[in-house]
Amino acid sequence: MEFKTIIEPFKIKSVEPIKITTAEERKVFLERARYNPFMLQSDEVMIDFLTDSGTSAMSANQWAGIMIGDESYAGSKSWDHMHTTIKDLTGYHHILPTHQGRAAERILYSVLGGKGKVFLSNTHFDTTRANIEYTGASAIDIPIPEATHPKDYHPFKGNMDIEKLEKLVREYKPENIGAVILTVTNNSGGGQPVSMQNAKEIHSVCSKYGVRFILDCCRIAENAYFIRHREKGYENKTYKEIAHEMFALADGAVMSAKKDALVNMGGFLAIEEQKLFEQCSSLLIITEGFTTYGGLSGRDMEAIAIGLKEIFEPDYLLYRIKSTAYLGEHLDKMGIPLMLPIGGHAVYIDAKEFYPQIPVEQYPGQALVCELYLKGGIRAVEIGSVMFGKYDENHKLIHAPMELVRLAIPRRVYTQSHIEYVIEVFGKIIEGREKVRGYEITYETAFLRHFTAEFRKL
Ligand SMILES: *Cc1c(COP(=O)(O)O)cnc(C)c1O
Repeated sequence: MEFKTIIEPFKIKSVEPIKITTAEERKVFLERARYNPFMLQSDEVMIDFLTDSGTSAMSANQWAGIMIGDESYAGSKSWDHMHTTIKDLTGYHHILPTHQGRAAERILYSVLGGKGKVFLSNTHFDTTRANIEYTGASAIDIPIPEATHPKDYHPFKGNMDIEKLEKLVREYKPENIGAVILTVTNNSGGGQPVSMQNAKEIHSVCSKYGVRFILDCCRIAENAYFIRHREKGYENKTYKEIAHEMFALADGAVMSAKKDALVNMGGFLAIEEQKLFEQCSSLLIITEGFTTYGGLSGRDMEAIAIGLKEIFEPDYLLYRIKSTAYLGEHLDKMGIPLMLPIGGHAVYIDAKEFYPQIPVEQYPGQALVCELYLKGGIRAVEIGSVMFGKYDENHKLIHAPMELVRLAIPRRVYTQSHIEYVIEVFGKIIEGREKVRGYEITYETAFLRHFTAEFRKL
């Protein structure tokens, strides 16, 4: 690299205005949203870091693809384009389109799951776990021990614990293992990458015991970037070759195209086994659509096919990973406690450490999320006891293991000045940190309460 400034490798052709709000306006908006940023209107938000899912900016090429999308019910050319692209990338023979990732998960795991079945993963994403548990099966997370130490450096913190994997496969018996699922990158830990070595070891354990190995490949391109730059022997491989090598170790994959396929909606299921494919196809036709569209429009499939190629462009991936790290490294230098190293798609802040005066029963993560909005119009999400907390029989909170706040970065959406602004807002957040108090929940639902809960400032 000739210069140290990495520029956004794109020009802006179409813009979406951001409404600039004042602190007084934001106070009114947040009160009206009952201190829950999920209930804010999007135009009340200046920088939206709620999620990187389905929030990517599509390229001019993708928009051009939208215009030539073939909407034929059967045999659509756009399906042919998507199908060929996925086959070429994954090497798997059977591909089914789905309207998003969880549809692929529901189909695959309802065939592989059921009472008595066990699934093992570095970490099951929440929809993965829900789809598995819904069938009566159980889902066990076996990340490496380093994954739970936010401050310790490990180049591949998303790895699976191989010793535990083998032990559990034996304990539950191979015939009861629905699948071993490797999530790349590991979303729940902040997009921490998984090494090729780890995938190879999982492959050997799975082959040894005859257990199915599935990749949850939502962020496979971001993961390939980390492998190329952190794992020996991959420096001269292309990102696509690295992804291809990882797919070759597994027996199939599910993907939410809303992440690394750079689209706003879509997903797929790709597998090798003929019989499993037939079972999944039947389910797809019952609930999603025919096997050549699976709930997607032709134009969506065209955009996915194009996005899946764009995502492996070296300039894009360099910008993507470095811009996430740029935000993280600046916050780290300012003394904000973070999950380290910085992952691919998000920066996680340890709110419990940032606000030691707020007990976990008063939700320090929610306090930080509200401060970010009030001070700077930034929308983030609490990933702590609001999201995962439960109650015991005396209605005492059983808190989550960590109180985190996630800043998820949409792809190709924000420029460096937006990020500089976020860093400046954090300066303000640090200034007043001792005075910040916690929140109590005044309304909640029994399931997924974080979406609709209402709060009161203490
Ligand atoms: C988003 C996501 C899913 C679910 O995909 P949807 O498109 O939201 O249904 C599954 N696994 C991982 C790792 C994800 O990030």
